[in-house]
Amino acid sequence: MNKRKRALWGFIIGDAYGVPMEFMERDTFKVDDMIGYGCWDVPAGTWSDDSAMTLITIEHLIHDTSIADLKQAFCDWAFRGYWTYNDEPSFDVGLTISEVLNRWEKNGPFEQAKTDEKSNGNGALMRILPIALYSYKRSIEERYVKDYATLTHGHIRSTLCCMHYTYVVHHLMDGMTFAQSLENANKQLLPLLNEYPNEKPNFERIFSINELTRDDINSNGYVIHTLEAVYWSMLNSSSYYDTIFNAVHLGSDTDTVAAIAGGLAGIYYDELNVPEDWMELIPKRDEIDKLLDRFVKVIF
Ligand SMILES: [Mg+2]
Repeated sequence: MNKRKRALWGFIIGDAYGVPMEFMERDTFKVDDMIGYGCWDVPAGTWSDDSAMTLITIEHLIHDTSIADLKQAFCDWAFRGYWTYNDEPSFDVGLTISEVLNRWEKNGPFEQAKTDEKSNGNGALMRILPIALYSYKRSIEERYVKDYATLTHGHIRSTLCCMHYTYVVHHLMDGMTFAQSLENANKQLLPLLNEYPNEKPNFERIFSINELTRDDINSNGYVIHTLEAVYWSMLNSSSYYDTIFNAVHLGSDTDTVAAIAGGLAGIYYDELNVPEDWMELIPKRDEIDKLLDRFVKVIF
């Protein structure tokens, strides 16, 4: 498996592993297997909104469809079971995404995402990995990432988090260590933060992530907290499995944190060291694998 494909499978496996423990409090559980049920009534291996919106974005990039078509595909996912694990409408749609999808469904794709500060959940960050991989070596990242991030999350903070993650993805693709990737991403974000000085204090935690202990880390659905949980998990792990294990055991938004961290760990480590039977539990495994193969061919 090459780095790009490993990143995307790493993302999906992280999502599926974390789904049953979503919303659970830190240190109230220990799970070292792909289990089912838990907080959502779904079988083991079920992936959620994070993977679905990621796969739909991949399909959009492969076929070079319009943004209106991409928005339509997101609506088809939420309301009609397009790219869900069981072909039923999605069991899990975040609040901000649900709000904008409802307006697209009702009024059409010209409706814009909300731009208020409260609309800073992790719903753009959780579907940005294909954009980060596609923009690698294409010198289009700033504009491109912003265009995709703001489809569902119009506030600049969400876009800045997507940018930072994209920079980290690119440095890992270049073969840097995670610590180096983080340091370089911090440097690259600074000029952007200078354009939005009010946002600077929000990124202090990301910039000082090396100094934060597990107890300091938040891991909920607020985009800054998700990003800090992702980076902390990467910094404090030594394999792919270790990374998603640590991510899930932070509690709260377990599936999204493990998915986003799993995407980075999939690039960074040479193998996804999870048992083969985990892969066998993933619904639509072959369909996903074929899609990822096509995507990898398109983005090279
Ligand atoms: Mg999810």
